Amino acid sequence: MTTLLKIKRGDSVRILRGKDAQKKGKVLAVLPKASTVVVEGLNMVKKHVKAKSGGQKGQRVSIAAPIRIANVQLICTQCKKGTRVGITRENGVRARVCKHCKAIIE
Ligand SMILES: [Zn+2]
Repeated sequence: MTTLLKIKRGDSVRILRGKDAQKKGKVLAVLPKASTVVVEGLNMVKKHVKAKSGGQKGQRVSIAAPIRIANVQLICTQCKKGTRVGITRENGVRARVCKHCKAIIE
């Protein structure tokens, strides 16, 4: 049985746990093997970047660290609520469906 990930790149999600709980953002990347997603502007961590040649100083930059999929909730494109996602079958194709308003989420 193939698994259909409930979160896809480009989705809007809400963070449920952690320092950015309740914040919303757009999914930039999904890492299925690690069951994590990277959300734009959320779960930021400071990372030290080493100095490069040419006299540039090393610097600290903020990057979005992966968040466990279990800790995010999809925001429905129709009812705009954070929702659990169901799986339905439309003409033989598996599709995601909002558990609030039953809309198909592309
Ligand atoms: Zn909905």
